Amino acid sequence: LPKAYEGSEPSVWVEYIQLALDHKPLNLGQGFPDYPPPKYVTDALIEVASNRNLHQYTRGFGHPRLVQALARLYSQLIGREINAQSEMITTLGAYEALYSAITGHVDQGDEVIIIEPFFDCYAPMVKYAGGIPKFIALQPKNPDGTAQSSADFVLDKSELESLFNSKTKAIILNTPNNPLGKVFTLEELTFIADLCKKYNVLCISDEVYEWLVYEPNKHIRIATLPDMWERTITIGSAGKTFSVTGWKLGWAYGPANLLFNLQMIHQNSVYTGCTPIQEATAIAFEKELSRLTSEECYFHSISKELQPKRDFVVKFLKETGFKAIVPEGGYFILADWTPLESRVDLNSETDVYKDYRFTKWMTKNVGLQGIPPTAFYSKEHKHLAEGFVRYCFIKVYDNFKALEEIYQGTL
Ligand code: PMP
Ligand code: GLN
Repeated sequence: LPKAYEGSEPSVWVEYIQLALDHKPLNLGQGFPDYPPPKYVTDALIEVASNRNLHQYTRGFGHPRLVQALARLYSQLIGREINAQSEMITTLGAYEALYSAITGHVDQGDEVIIIEPFFDCYAPMVKYAGGIPKFIALQPKNPDGTAQSSADFVLDKSELESLFNSKTKAIILNTPNNPLGKVFTLEELTFIADLCKKYNVLCISDEVYEWLVYEPNKHIRIATLPDMWERTITIGSAGKTFSVTGWKLGWAYGPANLLFNLQMIHQNSVYTGCTPIQEATAIAFEKELSRLTSEECYFHSISKELQPKRDFVVKFLKETGFKAIVPEGGYFILADWTPLESRVDLNSETDVYKDYRFTKWMTKNVGLQGIPPTAFYSKEHKHLAEGFVRYCFIKVYDNFKALEEIYQGTL
C-alpha cells in the first residue's frame, strides 16, 4: 500500500457483515431498517425505471431535479437561499461526501479534530489526505462515570480548545452522533462554532441522522449559527432520510468556494451519480416539501414511530442486566454489557478488545449481533468503549420479540 494507506485494516463493517452471513444471528449490528421504505418512495423508483429517458448519465455535480429539491429544502431549513448549482453536490452516499470534503480540504500535515465516538471512516480519510487526526472523547459528565442518556456525555471545553492551533484545518462534527445518539445542544454547538471562528477552522458537519431526533431534543444545523455558513460543509444521506440505505445517495451543501473543492474531487473520481436513484429521490423530496409542516411528513413521522422502539429496547436491555444509554437521536443504543460478564465466555475469542470478544461470542452462541464500539475510537481511547455494545433499533417488533426469546433461552 502507498504510505498514506499503510496500516489500513478491514473495517468493522467488513468483518461483522461476514460474521452475520456466516452465523445468521438476529442482526442488530449494521444500521439499516429491516422493513420496506415508504411505499411512495419505492413507487417513485418504479415510475422512474419505466421512463426510457432516465437511464443515461446525468449532470456530474448532481441531477438537476434533485439539486433543485435539495436546495429548496435546505434553503428553508438554513434560512438563506442556497444555489442549487454552486452550493450543493450529490454524491455516492454520505461516505463520498465525507471523502470529497476531507480530501478536498486537508493538506499534508494539517490537523483535523475528531470527536469520539466517531463514525469509523473519518480517521482513515483524514490520514489518506495526509492529515493528522486529533481526537477528543465525549465523557460522562457525572463524576462517578454513570450515564443514563447520551446527553450525559459532554466535551471538556478546555481540552477542546487546547486542540485548536494554527495547524488545525477542520473539525468533524456528527450530530446526532453515531454510535452514541448524542444530539449536540445550541450551547455546545456555539462553543464549537466560536472556536472555529477564532482559529479560522472549517467545520465538516455530518448530519445524516438529522430527522432521527427524539422529543424533546431538537436538531440544530451548525451552519445556521452566526457566521458559520461561510465555514461549514453539511452532509446528508438519502439512505437515512428515506430508509433506503442501499440507494447510496448522499449530498453536501455549503458556500460555493468550499463546495468547489468537493466538486473537483468528485469530478475526477466518481464524476456522476446514479440517474434513476437521484430522480426517484427528487420525487420523494418534492412530496415531503409539499407537506413539510404536516405530521404525515416522513421527516417527522419517522422519529415518532421509532421512539417507542427505542424505549422498548432500552427497557428490555435494562431488564436483562445491561446498563443502556438512552439515545437522544439516531437509531442506535450503546449499552454497558459488563454486568453480564460472568455469563459470557470471553476467552473463547482472541480479539484484543473485549467488546469484539463479547459481540463475537454473542453472535455465535446466543444468536444476536451487535457492533463493538471500540471501532469508533482512536487507539488511545478504546478502553473507554470496551465495556459497551451498540444495538440498532430500526427493526420490526417481531424481531424484538425474537430478542426476548433469545435471552429467555440462553442468558
Ligand atoms: N455518516 C454516518 C454518521 C453514518 O452513520 C453513515 C452510515 N452509513 C454514513 C455517514 C454514511 O452514509 P451513506 O450510507 O449515505 O454513505
Ligand atoms: N451507518 C451504518 C452503521 O453505522 C452503516 C455503516 C456501514 O455499513 N459502513 O451501522
